[in-house]
Amino acid sequence: MTTNRRVTVIPGDGIGPEVVGATQRALDALGAGITWERCEAGAVSFRRGLATGVPAETLASIRDTRVVLKGPLETPVGYGEKSANVTLRKLFETYANVRPVRELPGVPSPFAGRGIDLVVVRENVEDLYAGIEHQQTPTVAQCLKLISRQGCEKTARVAFELARAEGRRRVTCATKANIMKLTEGLMKRTFEEVAREYPDIQADHVLVDNCAHQLVRAPEQFEVIVTTNMNGDILSDLTSGLIGGLGFAPGANLGRDVAMFEAVHGSAPTIAGQNIANPTAVMLSGAMLLRHLGLLTHASTLEHALAATLEDGIFTRDVTAKGAVGTAEFTDAVIARFGRRAERLRARDHRPLVLPTEAPAPPAALHTPMALVGADVFVRATDMPDALADALVKATEGSPFRLKMISNRGTQVWPSPGALPDLVDHHRCRFVRRDNAATPDDRDVLDLLARVGAARPWMHVEKLHTIDGAPAYTRAQGED
Ligand code: ATP
Repeated sequence: MTTNRRVTVIPGDGIGPEVVGATQRALDALGAGITWERCEAGAVSFRRGLATGVPAETLASIRDTRVVLKGPLETPVGYGEKSANVTLRKLFETYANVRPVRELPGVPSPFAGRGIDLVVVRENVEDLYAGIEHQQTPTVAQCLKLISRQGCEKTARVAFELARAEGRRRVTCATKANIMKLTEGLMKRTFEEVAREYPDIQADHVLVDNCAHQLVRAPEQFEVIVTTNMNGDILSDLTSGLIGGLGFAPGANLGRDVAMFEAVHGSAPTIAGQNIANPTAVMLSGAMLLRHLGLLTHASTLEHALAATLEDGIFTRDVTAKGAVGTAEFTDAVIARFGRRAERLRARDHRPLVLPTEAPAPPAALHTPMALVGADVFVRATDMPDALADALVKATEGSPFRLKMISNRGTQVWPSPGALPDLVDHHRCRFVRRDNAATPDDRDVLDLLARVGAARPWMHVEKLHTIDGAPAYTRAQGED
């Protein structure tokens, strides 16, 4: 249990100041003994000319307090390229995003009565959100999906530790490992390894598309779902919809040093400043913050009071058009119910969450030898595949590499597999070591690039390796 009760609070944009203010008021009324350090980030900072949207004082406060209650942050049109939300997550390496959803009494939803009570644990800093994009040609763009074993391992551990802390018995890993064997497959394989350390918890894997289907057909079967960043973004918005909408979906960004608590929803600018936003999602994030501080009883008091308010039919306008109360009145009603146990809240016994304290030890893989066996060179060309292949074969005569195949958006087009897809001006030309050539090195790759470049402009190159003797790259659709 920590004694640090200083918390950085970032009210944020749009409805942020109203719903975060409501939560601060509730936490103060609970007597949680929190000293708030109010900091700025988001639209106001972008408008002051800060490209990141996060001022140095805010970063300093977070470094110091290590705990943040945060409202949604906007990137106003015309300012900055990166979201301040993503910047904060990345800067403090809050690698796991925990998004619980639970059926709350009286909140209408097509799934009411099913007893939904699940948590999505999403890897929070890698994947397509690394934001590494390149326009390859005027007509073809690329985004790199970077997944690390360390990122998968830390996130999987949080999922299992969370299951233990909340008395849950099952963790499901959702990936697209059947299609993206190396990236999504890494999450699946790492999850399966970590699972062996948690024999008390049932671990299974489901393809993410099937997971979405199952979440709508039988959401009550899930307890904890752990997944990669992009999958988790989509699944967790889906799960908020199951229990009555974004107004009820809290979240926590957890890292080794810093924990940031925020609702899943954004700034909802169209309803900002009118005292109509639902503060429940941020209040439930506040309950997660209290648990993080070790204040388990206060967290439970807040959750019960919230549920009791809903049981009494007190709702904001996102739930009911008739008789809705405002943000401030809803907050008053919650505070007035401190000490009351909700009758229909499925409460859980929480134990403090044990986060992995060390970054995982460097895996043995760091020292595994890699052997260069070829290169994929991506060229810009509008020729038909046979003509492009002829030009490349000629240009690379005498190189230790031979052209093995050309693919267009992942489908082999040379040698022709019989049918041609629609062609775009972006070709992957796969070169492999000739049978009689010596073991190639980087100089041979540079020579290859010069030869290819003389025939057609190239945009990027991926060296092909084997790791421990196994190919560290996938085959094209149709490649032998
Ligand atoms: P952003 O671009 O910051 O994500 P947004 O309006 O596009 O903002 P959200 O803020 O996530 O996206 O919200 C989408 C809609 O959901 C809002 O327009 C609003 O109607 C509703 N909504 C979200 N949060 C709340 C809330 N706390 N209370 C009431 N309605 C909400």
